[in-house]
Amino acid sequence: MNNKGFDKVRLLLVAVLILGALLNIVWMKNLPNPGEIVAEDTPDDAVVLVGTAQGRNGPVEVEVTATADRIYGIRVLDHQESDGIGTEAARLLPGKIYESQSLLVDSIAGATISSDAIKEAIANALSSGGFDPNVFMVEVAAAEPVEKTPVELDCDVVVVGAGGAGLTASVLATQQGMDVILLEKMPFVGGNSLRAEGGMNAAGTKLEAELGLDDSTVENFTEDTLRLGHYLADPDLVRTLAEKSSDAIEWLKTVNAQFTGVKATGGCEGRKYLHQPEGGVAVGEYLVDKLKTQTEKLGIDVRVNTKATEILMDNGQAVGVIAEDAEHVYTIHAKSVVITTGGFGANFELMASYDPSLANAVTTNHSGATGDGIMLARAVGADTVDMEQIQLHPTVIQSDGTLVSESFRSLGAIVVNTEGKRFVNDLAGRDVVSQAELKQPDGYCFIIFDQNLVDHLALSQKFIDRGFTIQGNTYEELAKNMGLTGDAVQNFVNTMNTWNESVANGIDEEFGRNNGMDDDLSVAPFYAIKIAPGIHHTMGGIKINTNAEVIDTDGNVIPGLFAAGETTGGIHGGNRVGGNAVCDFVVFGRIAGQSATDFAAAEALPNAA
Ligand code: ADP
Repeated sequence: MNNKGFDKVRLLLVAVLILGALLNIVWMKNLPNPGEIVAEDTPDDAVVLVGTAQGRNGPVEVEVTATADRIYGIRVLDHQESDGIGTEAARLLPGKIYESQSLLVDSIAGATISSDAIKEAIANALSSGGFDPNVFMVEVAAAEPVEKTPVELDCDVVVVGAGGAGLTASVLATQQGMDVILLEKMPFVGGNSLRAEGGMNAAGTKLEAELGLDDSTVENFTEDTLRLGHYLADPDLVRTLAEKSSDAIEWLKTVNAQFTGVKATGGCEGRKYLHQPEGGVAVGEYLVDKLKTQTEKLGIDVRVNTKATEILMDNGQAVGVIAEDAEHVYTIHAKSVVITTGGFGANFELMASYDPSLANAVTTNHSGATGDGIMLARAVGADTVDMEQIQLHPTVIQSDGTLVSESFRSLGAIVVNTEGKRFVNDLAGRDVVSQAELKQPDGYCFIIFDQNLVDHLALSQKFIDRGFTIQGNTYEELAKNMGLTGDAVQNFVNTMNTWNESVANGIDEEFGRNNGMDDDLSVAPFYAIKIAPGIHHTMGGIKINTNAEVIDTDGNVIPGLFAAGETTGGIHGGNRVGGNAVCDFVVFGRIAGQSATDFAAAEALPNAA
């Protein structure tokens, strides 16, 4: 070979190597599970097996390297689990299972469905190789109680609870130069906020102006929120929510969160406030991801698996918190304290103390929604409001508490009973629809939509993938597949035809719905999901003023103590409007972050008391 030919071969080789490296990087980036385990002492007779099981959003596929009596490696090859929840299970669980050599290890808190799917997929993989999974069903000994090491920490602002409100407050305070510690008791951030699907309400925004939505004013939004909350909310807080909502949307752009559409919100008489993120994705996952990325960029000290247990007081002023993880007890000294621990929709004992009928209800809440912040604040004299106001959401899948978000109805879905009939304005307030459902026969109803809606609502696909949908190519076929019989089948066909006519005429003469009627339900295949009401939001909580300062039982501000998000009361009154929880956590998260910053800055002045 002459020199030129040799150079060509070398060039080709280098090109192949570079391409290989690039492909490898892309492949590594796409690895679903950065927490995979493959032991160094894997023997030659270990076999590599693959198994699948159904997760929250679709199949979970794992690869297991094992002999009959020992697991040497676990990789989660593929999954569609939720960002921030299922992804954490995939990251954390393989190590736990490998170390304990048991499939009976505790699931990752807050990610039970994904954890169970991973365990089941591993068992299936083992079975597929002729191994007995029961060998790995061994009780895991409870960890020896450890003497926790005391640790003292100092910061400007300590924020308790890393859901939407806590992440927002922390990012804002850090942007203002504060040294922030953010505590989260669960293994991952996001709380209930991660579960928000529909969108974020806001009024008077640039996007609404561009879309010519002249009715989406601060005045209308204030009035709609007050009216739908049965005028129980604090009007000053509601006005603040509405007035600051447009700024909140602008601020979110600084953390790279963009909204591209505005949809109708339940009960708002056709007025549109519900801002939807680019790509029609679920709003909670989208915003939590953007905010979490900011905490990383800003280098915020976020401590997961760390639970606050007490607010430290000095002379009537909040000066820090006590918190614990598995090995330490932290005394965190701070100039200001922000409580953003979310609601108590998973604390059945507390809910039942206000409404005994809720003791055995289904909840859409994550397991950490136990009302800790309310108890911590009460212990230092804080007042609470509207604690008995607990919202039922009308479209909840009863088998596991999965929420079928309002965006389905905003885009045209309707609700029918087991007689095949509509029975309420399906986009009235959540309380109205829930109460109407509770009066229907059989204790459940169906939400109905069509292929056109599926094509326009990305998050609908996961309901199909998880097997929650019943399908039919005609209305009659769908009715039969829903289990309707006798007159109910024809009733259903009539209901659908009448509904499509109502959409065409723009008037729902039967129930007065005037919202989410842009498209009819005429594109096959047709879908139904079986639903009933479930606990969704606790409207009551810590009493705050418009500066997010916590108010005590004598009506005075508790210096140094701030609160925001679902842990507070007074913003939603007797019924929370769909899309207002997200608005609440961004608007009041920002206010709390700013107030805590101002307070801490004033404390740092040389003449501060
Ligand atoms: P919000 O929408 O108001 O932000 P979320 O439910 O999204 O409410 O977030 C509240 C967060 O607070 C959750 O992630 C929850 O696990 C966390 N949390 C609750 N109690 C404590 C506690 N005692 N210490 C630390 N974090 C807590």
